[in-house]
Amino acid sequence: MIQIRHLSKTFVNPDGNTITVLKDVNCDIEKGEVISIIGPSGTGKSTFLRALNMLEPPTTGEIWVDGENITQKGYPLNKLRQKMGMVFQSFNLFEHKTVLENIIYAPMELLKSPEQQAKEEAMELLRKVGMAQKADVYPASLSGGQKQRVAIARSLAMHPEVILFDEPTSALDPTMVGEVLSVIRQLAKSGLTMLIVTHEMRFARDVSTRIFFMNEGIIYEDGTPEQIYEHPVHSATKAFVNRIQKIVYEIDSDNYDFLQIHTDINRFCIKYNITGKQDLAYWLLKEMLFTHMRSLRPLTFRLTHTELTGTTALDFMVEHLTESPLTDAARESIRQQIKELIEEPTTRGFRVKLII
Ligand code: ADP
Ligand code: MG
Repeated sequence: MIQIRHLSKTFVNPDGNTITVLKDVNCDIEKGEVISIIGPSGTGKSTFLRALNMLEPPTTGEIWVDGENITQKGYPLNKLRQKMGMVFQSFNLFEHKTVLENIIYAPMELLKSPEQQAKEEAMELLRKVGMAQKADVYPASLSGGQKQRVAIARSLAMHPEVILFDEPTSALDPTMVGEVLSVIRQLAKSGLTMLIVTHEMRFARDVSTRIFFMNEGIIYEDGTPEQIYEHPVHSATKAFVNRIQKIVYEIDSDNYDFLQIHTDINRFCIKYNITGKQDLAYWLLKEMLFTHMRSLRPLTFRLTHTELTGTTALDFMVEHLTESPLTDAARESIRQQIKELIEEPTTRGFRVKLII
């Protein structure tokens, strides 16, 4: 359906310096594929999507869609944009139009749909994304997750063949990520061709037929989720997909802000979709800080989560400590609550690690 050949993009900055963001991108995309594009920031993922629908015309190379070279001079961009919808991180809704008006605008203007038909279709789409009851309100009264669901419905209203999503959940409060991802999951099942730039590793693995790992302006690695996540060929891919999220605290006296830590743990658990572990993490933290390791300061506490494997750990490190601070009774009671308890000397001290 889409063929991309030797695509490059070079920007010229106001100071005259040039920056080549896309170097030599090549790929073929079949109808019905759901492709997630992952990779470090600044590697050209957004530029790639924007080049695909000619928001950012490429410097060199060709893009073929349904057998037509869209990079050719004079190719009708309206036709292209109708085929290829785009959903942005920042929603881009018309603030002075109601939800329903946002959705019917483009079909009426560009597809010349009769108003009644456009409205009926819009309501159908709003029901699909769970927003039908908000049809008559203005975007300002919606939450970020609701705005994004409206933006998705708006893009669907043009009957696109492909939808490009550029980090559709990055601007959202963590509590709203789920509702938007579930709408995208549902679309993926419907057979629509989609390219999704995302940082949500597990979502990408679950929803995609293929993953592009972009790095340094090229598609560095291209494969099934299994290949990319379980057997990556390149070490850069491996390092990226196995990256560990963490929060770290140096606790050097009893005057630390425990409420702040609690709030941070809460947000962390929501962000990485592990709210089920939150109460246990908090209970263990209190047990360790207030009881078993009460007299041990300074202490470094780390909460880590490996998104891909779903492994969450609390890690307590004390310098110059030579043996475990846990009594047999403490060890027993903790073990019953968690998956694995590791007590180990480190080069600088001693660590107690609780895997939950
Ligand atoms: P990603 O989406 O992977 O984070 P982007 O495609 O947004 O990366 O950007 C890649 C690089 O291109 C960045 O260094 C960015 O500063 C630069 N860039 C993007 N758009 C422009 C532009 N319009 N003019 C100049 N530089 C740009
Ligand atoms: Mg980007």
